[in-house]
Formats: sequence, C-alpha cells, structure tokens
Amino acid sequence: MNEISIPPAQSIRFENGQFVPEDVEIENTINIPTTGPHFHEVLNKHELNLVHEKPNELQMNLGKLCNLACHHCHVDAGPKRTEIMTWEVMEKILAWAKTAKIERADLTGGAPELNPHFRQFCDALIEMGIQITSRCNITVLFEPGQEDLAQWYKDREIRLVCSLPCYTEDNVDAQRGKGVFDKSIAGLQLLNKLGYGKSEKLSLDLVYNPIGAHLPPDQAELEDDYRNMLGENFDIVFSSLLAITNIPINRFAHALRRDGELDDYQHLLVSNFNPMTVDQLMCKSLINLDWEGRVFDCDFNQMLEIPMSGGEERHLWDINIDDIAGASIATNRHCFGCTAGAGSSCGGILAD
Ligand code: SF4
Ligand code: SF4
Repeated sequence: MNEISIPPAQSIRFENGQFVPEDVEIENTINIPTTGPHFHEVLNKHELNLVHEKPNELQMNLGKLCNLACHHCHVDAGPKRTEIMTWEVMEKILAWAKTAKIERADLTGGAPELNPHFRQFCDALIEMGIQITSRCNITVLFEPGQEDLAQWYKDREIRLVCSLPCYTEDNVDAQRGKGVFDKSIAGLQLLNKLGYGKSEKLSLDLVYNPIGAHLPPDQAELEDDYRNMLGENFDIVFSSLLAITNIPINRFAHALRRDGELDDYQHLLVSNFNPMTVDQLMCKSLINLDWEGRVFDCDFNQMLEIPMSGGEERHLWDINIDDIAGASIATNRHCFGCTAGAGSSCGGILAD
C-alpha cells in the first residue's frame, strides 16, 4: 500500500494504482473524478471555511454556441450547440443587477459574441455603469457578421480576456483545431492596431492553460516567455497573462479517462493542494449564471449542474443579494483544480 500525503498531515490510502474511493455522493460520475479525498474533507483538515461573500460580480454564460470545439473545453461548447440566452432572460438579469448594484459582469460562453443579443446586452450593462469583461476566443473576430467586432469592443473599452494556450502553432492547433493559431495571431494584431494591450483602458489579457495533464508553470515566467515570443515573432503586445489550470470535468475529464490519466491527474491536483489559495477562490465573490439565468457557485459547478450552495435549482431573480453572504459553496473533487499549486481562477493564479 502506498501513502500519499496531503499537507499538512493527512494521508490517503492508495492501493493497486488507485485511490480508495471515499464514501461521497456524486451524481454525475462520468464527468468528474471519483477517486481520492473529497474537497470539503481537506478544507476541514486545514480548518478552512469556504462560504460566499456579498457578490459584486455576475459571471454569465450567454450560451454554448461556439465557432470552435477545443479539446480542453469544460463547457463542451461547439458550433452545433443550441443553448443560448434569450433577451427575455437578459432583461430579468438587468433588472436584478440594477437593484443589487452589481459592479462587474464577466461574459462567457461558448463564444458570447455569437449570442444575437450580445451587443444590446453589453450596452445595457454599460449604461448601468457595470464594467464588462468579455471572454473572447479571438477567432470569432473573423466570423461572418463579426467584421466590426474589434472596433465595437474598442468603442466601449470592454476588457478582453483571450484564450491562447501556447505561443506555438503546433500546440494551439492541437488543442483548438487546425488554423486557429494563425487566426489568433491575426486577431491579436488587429486588436493591437486598435490600441488593445497598449493602455489600461483597452486591457487585453491572454489565457494560458496546459496542453496536457499537468499544472501550469510559474505565471510570471510564462508571461515573460509569451511577451518575448509573441513580441519578437509577431510584434504582439498584451496586458497580462493569466495561467489557468484545466479542471477535470466534462470533455477534459473524458479525455483523461480515455487515456487512463484521470486518477493520476486528480492525484496531482490533490497532492498540490495549497491552503493559501482558498481565501481567493472566485466562487466566494461572484454569482455564476447559465444561459437560462439559473445560479451556480462557479462556471465549473454550472457545467456539472450542481446548483448554487448545492440546494434547489434557482434563478437569479429568485434570490436576494443580501441572503448570499455566508451561504455555503457546493464543492466536489474537481475543486482541487482551483487550489493546486499557485491556484487557479478566471483571473489566473491565486497565490504566489
Ligand atoms: S473557444 Fe472557449 S468556449 Fe469555445 S470551444 Fe474553445 S474553450 Fe470552449
Ligand atoms: S470549482 Fe468552483 S466551487 Fe470549486 S473551488 Fe473552484 S470555483 Fe470554487
């Protein structure tokens, strides 16, 4: 029998190359690791509490439609997905956000820009003084009907967070599809030409995530590499690099399971648990919404259909913002993806 230590002093049985399963209820066992310790048990061992603060941000999935179908995608997004947020849902969100005095909106998908109401929704949020971050896959700038998108973003000074999992063509195309690297480079050059990445008002962050089943390298060192490679080879500049860990759910978990790597990857995440990350976890400070307006603790829980606080399914307009602070956060084994090493969130690392 092997012993695996979980800092500071927990050990977990590991037999015949497998974690001994814990007695934990998991509904969606196909799309999530099912071996190793449960997240809340490790939090308890460290005497850490994970509850919501009063949220100031809505992270909204505007739909699963995407022009790409990347291997690592935890949304399982793609060109054939039909789930899309309606204007009716958007109107209810806008009304709630106004009363709740929400300060920030983080728009994601799929490709959020492919929602037919995307621009109208953004303008309504801006009118309410809400600061927008849009998670743009860059290639969408070249989709039919999106020719003016880059300029449209610039005119509204919308912060862009753009996925570019590597600075080499082979790696990007392997993860995202053939030709994606070239389009991404052309898109970044277009955004730079408009001033993105060159001033605080036109923030352009890039997102790195590992190509395989390993943790991201040091974010600061990687940012230097990106600056050097993209600057020297393509004359591209950007604001910051965000290093994100791949969370073992859905499409990525399927691929790991198929390749016999899921248990090893989960082991890697668990054995790198960093208690210093817990206070910064993104689930503490935001409310996540799906395309129907249902509330979740984070985007990953949304994809696993684990409702906010693990309770009944609710919509944003069913909840009162004053009731959220102190509410519990639903966790499961995938949460170790957020606390491994330097930690991971939609804003990059959580602890140095
Ligand atoms: S671009 Fe983003 S949302 Fe679209 S498939 Fe790739 S990872 Fe998923
Ligand atoms: S997966 Fe979601 S709920 Fe779990 S730690 Fe990460 S952000 Fe929080």
